[in-house]
Amino acid sequence: MLFVFDLDGVLYRDNSIIAGAPKTVCYLRKAGHKISFATNNAMLSRKAYVKKLNNMGFDCTPDEVMASAYAAGLYLKSKRAGGKKVFVVGEKGLQQELKTAGLKVFTGRSRVSLPKSTAYVVVGLDRKFNYKALKLAREYIEKGAKLIATNKDYTYPGKGGIFPGGGSLVAAVEAASGVEAFVIGKPMPFMLNKLREINQIKSKDTIVVGDRYDTDIVFGKRAKTKTIMVLTGVTSKKEALKYKGKARPDLILKSVCDLKKYY
Ligand SMILES: [Mg+2]
Repeated sequence: MLFVFDLDGVLYRDNSIIAGAPKTVCYLRKAGHKISFATNNAMLSRKAYVKKLNNMGFDCTPDEVMASAYAAGLYLKSKRAGGKKVFVVGEKGLQQELKTAGLKVFTGRSRVSLPKSTAYVVVGLDRKFNYKALKLAREYIEKGAKLIATNKDYTYPGKGGIFPGGGSLVAAVEAASGVEAFVIGKPMPFMLNKLREINQIKSKDTIVVGDRYDTDIVFGKRAKTKTIMVLTGVTSKKEALKYKGKARPDLILKSVCDLKKYY
């Protein structure tokens, strides 16, 4: 089986490891399963996630990590966008990944003079988002730039409460431009297709493990994989049990540590 783990709310919360999670991942590897990690969070590059996960004891390789900023770069590469200009609403991780993918990156904070037009506008979470960036994004889209979103999560749980997510910024750009974004992150299929391609594995042999119904579980359901919901993150047991029949996750577990009982 290929296990596709969401990160925040599943393996850690903020920067605290879910007790026993690294041991569980290690156990699954030893039992012969393949492991991958998929996150909608576009603030960090893939390299930064590999470092973060390794520091927490998950012993991963870059090939196992699919983060939406990296995936946006992969997507644009697949569109032969190398050398093209992109206006980015997003933080360093996203900017870096798009540069690595061969694009010429501009932001509302660029010191160089901005181009008249760009081929793409890519939007992810940017904690320094402002009116100028929104105005520029709208103008580039009006002139023909394609709008791409790393994800549409309106909020995310952080230290001290709920924070506006990348999806809130995407919504602002969509409203200002009148154009709907193409979405890279979960629940859209791009990242899962890539992971299955890398691992040469079919949907029926894939299991998505997540804490959020509308992103993680829907991500798996749409691709016809198995889905496992854990209750260490966003979704409560009460909410998880509301989904009946085919909509229900195949398993609802207190934490990833319970995977040992089933696999
Ligand atoms: Mg999560």
